[in-house]
Order: sequence, then structure tokens, then C-alpha cells
Amino acid sequence: MADDAGMKDDIEQVQAVVIGAGVVGLAVARTLARAGHEVVVLEALDAIGTVTSARNSEVIHAGLYYPPGSLKARWCVEGREQLYAYCAERGIAHRRCGKLVVATQPGQQAYLHKLLQQAQANGVHDALLIDGDAARRLEPALQATAALHSPSTGIVDSHGFMLALQGEAEDHGAMLAFESPVRGGRVVPQGIELDVGGAQPMRLRARIVVNGAGLAAPAVAARIEGLPQALVPAAHYCKGSYFSLAGKAPFSRLIYPVPEAAGLGVHLTLDLGGQARFGPDTEWLSDDAPIDYRVDPRRADGFYAEIRRYWPALPDGALQPAYSGVRPKIQADGEPARDFELQGPAQHGVPGLVNLFGIESPGLTSALAIGQAVHRALAD
Ligand SMILES: Cc1cc2nc3c(=O)[nH]c(=O)nc-3n(C[C@H](O)[C@H](O)[C@H](O)COP(=O)(O)OP(=O)(O)OC[C@H]3O[C@@H](n4cnc5c(N)ncnc54)[C@H](O)[C@@H]3O)c2cc1C
Repeated sequence: MADDAGMKDDIEQVQAVVIGAGVVGLAVARTLARAGHEVVVLEALDAIGTVTSARNSEVIHAGLYYPPGSLKARWCVEGREQLYAYCAERGIAHRRCGKLVVATQPGQQAYLHKLLQQAQANGVHDALLIDGDAARRLEPALQATAALHSPSTGIVDSHGFMLALQGEAEDHGAMLAFESPVRGGRVVPQGIELDVGGAQPMRLRARIVVNGAGLAAPAVAARIEGLPQALVPAAHYCKGSYFSLAGKAPFSRLIYPVPEAAGLGVHLTLDLGGQARFGPDTEWLSDDAPIDYRVDPRRADGFYAEIRRYWPALPDGALQPAYSGVRPKIQADGEPARDFELQGPAQHGVPGLVNLFGIESPGLTSALAIGQAVHRALAD
């Protein structure tokens, strides 16, 4: 970054700015830095990956759930293989443990058939439908009438992944600026100017700006003068709470029910130490109120009921409130699910600007593929 002697009204010049140091912003920064760009990552908080990227299930999704041809389907399948290879290459803790999507009543089996067809259309060729007995041979504690077995689903140490992305970006010259919230900006003939708050407010001008602000991405885009505002979606927030299991879970794979509307259902995931947690459930939040990440212990009642459909032996009192995350939705409660949105120059006409909207699940799995897609959108 050019140093203009710290004068408040001077405009510092940089080639590329990434807004947000979550897993997506870091993956974008890594790709741009590797491609030879001078990159500055502006992060509002004081560390990488403390928002949605630290509040998820850490599942490497196979790519079962998303409509064929959607960005979610394509980037999940591409990103998943890239992520496994990246973890292996860089020694990031992960495990290809597999998962079962379970039907607990005969009426749900049609859903599993549809899911299998969709998985195959998405290029997931190892998923297999099995009957209840076969499912119980894999996981004896399970109650299921049938299941879809996905061997290529796994889990990853998401923080280890982000540290590796940060390290690689920095090795290629990227700089991270913490406590540097982007307050607004404008499109100018030489690029995009950003007003950055923090202890030393400053103005930055960049040829490339990638808005990877997660939950705040629509708000950041709405404050960029000169960007056609009709394209900026409204942000909607859907909280998901987790409960952890006291004691050891009798499962070695991830267990998912047939999903509900806004999430994938209260599923069982395992961390790399084998500890089980359940969640996330779905709770739409008011669009304006500040986000409260505390887990309401009363939500446990719903969890016991959901989990006992596939694990009837769940002991009373075994669930403890754990943590929550908030899905950065771009559709409101009751509206059809939306795809990831990458809006680049081809969509909004502003050279050098890319906005990433609605990067909910499988955003962690897709991060490396998103980094490449952003780079392509800028090159085009
Ligand atoms: C409950 C839940 C479970 C999930 N489970 C999975 C899963 O198992 N597998 C999977 O693949 N995906 C999962 N996801 C999705 C995944 O977590 C997200 O897609 C991913 O973390 C999004 O990363 P991000 O970098 O876009 O956002 P974030 O991690 O939120 O990062 C955005 C960053 O931008 C910063 N920022 C915001 N505003 C500004 C500003 N004005 N200026 C500067 N910086 C700013 C924030 O401080 C933050 O650090 C889940 C999501 C949720 C909510």
C-alpha cells in the first residue's frame, strides 16, 4: 500500500482490496495474491474468521443438496475436491468420515431417491441408497427405514484452513488490516474509493474491490455510490443454534435427517476429536435488530424430538447449549431458496468490483472455488 504519511484526507492507492477476512475473503485474497495482485484485506474486527466462518458445522459437503447447474452445486463439488487436496498438501486437520441422510418413515424415501438423482446430476458419483438394515450395520444406534450414504462428505478444521489461506496470501505479498471497517465508497474514473473507519480513518482507492463481508455484504454494497442499487439484494438473517452432547456419541459418520425448508435439519456432526454436536435449527431473525448469538436453552426441547427420530436412545439431559451461527440469506422467510450470487462487472457494469451475496452453506466447502470464480469474473 502506498504510504501517504498517514494524512487523513490523502487517498492511499492499492491494486486490490478484499473486504472481510472470513474464509471466503481469505480464499479470494489468496487467489488474487497468487495471481500477482497487490492485495489488502480490510477486516472490521481484530482477527480473521470470527463471524460466520467460526460458527458453522465445519462439514465438507459432497454436493447433494443443490439444484443441478446452480453455483452452489458447481462450487461445492469443485471446492470440495480442492479442499481435500489443499488439506492434504498443507497438513490441515480433516477427515473424510462420510455421512448418512436418513429417512425415518417410509414417506421420506422418495426424497432420498430424488436426492440421489440430484447428487448424480451434480457430479457426486459415490452416493448410494441403502436400506435400514444396511444403515444399521454401518451405525448400529441408528433408526432408519433407508439412508443415502455419502462417503465423500467430511469434516475440516476451519480455523486451520483459514490460517493456511492467510499464510499463503501473505507469502504472496497480501496485507491484512484489522479493525478497518469499510464505511462506504464510490465509483470513480480510476477505480473504487473506499472510506475506511477504525482508529485511523482513511480513504483507499483500488482498481479491484471484492466485497466478501458476509452478513454485511448487502449493506456494504448499498453504501457504494455509483453501483446500480437495484441489483443489491436485501439481507435476511436465519439463526441456527447448536447443542453439544455430554458424553460420547455412538456414531462415526455424520447423520442428517431429511431436510427442512431453510436448513439441512438438526443433524449430528462430529468434530475432529469425535465430540458430537447437533444443529443448526432455523430461527428467522428480525432484519434490523442486532444479532444475539446466545443459544436459548429452551430450544433443546425441539432438538430432543428431532434427534430421537433417528437416535431414539438419546438420553434425557444429554444436550447442552453450545453456539450459534447466522445464515446470510438473500431471501426472506417463506420465499424460494436463492443461489449464491457473484455480481461482477458483467452484471453491474462497474469495472473491478465484485460483490458476493448469500454465501451461506456450502460456503466453507466452496471457498477455494469461489476464490477462482472471483478471479475469472475480474479477468473477464
Ligand atoms: C449455522 C451455519 C452452519 C454452516 N455449516 C456449514 C458447513 O458445515 N459447511 C459449509 O461448507 N458451510 C457451512 N456454512 C456456511 C459457511 O459458514 C459460510 O458460507 C462461510 O463461513 C462464509 O464466509 P464469509 O467469509 O463469506 O463470511 P464471514 O465468515 O462472516 O466473514 C465476513 C467478514 O467480513 C467482515 N466484515 C463485515 N463487514 C465489514 C466491513 N464493513 N468492513 C470490513 N470487514 C467487514 C466480518 O467481520 C467478517 O470477518 C454454515 C453457515 C451457518 C450460518
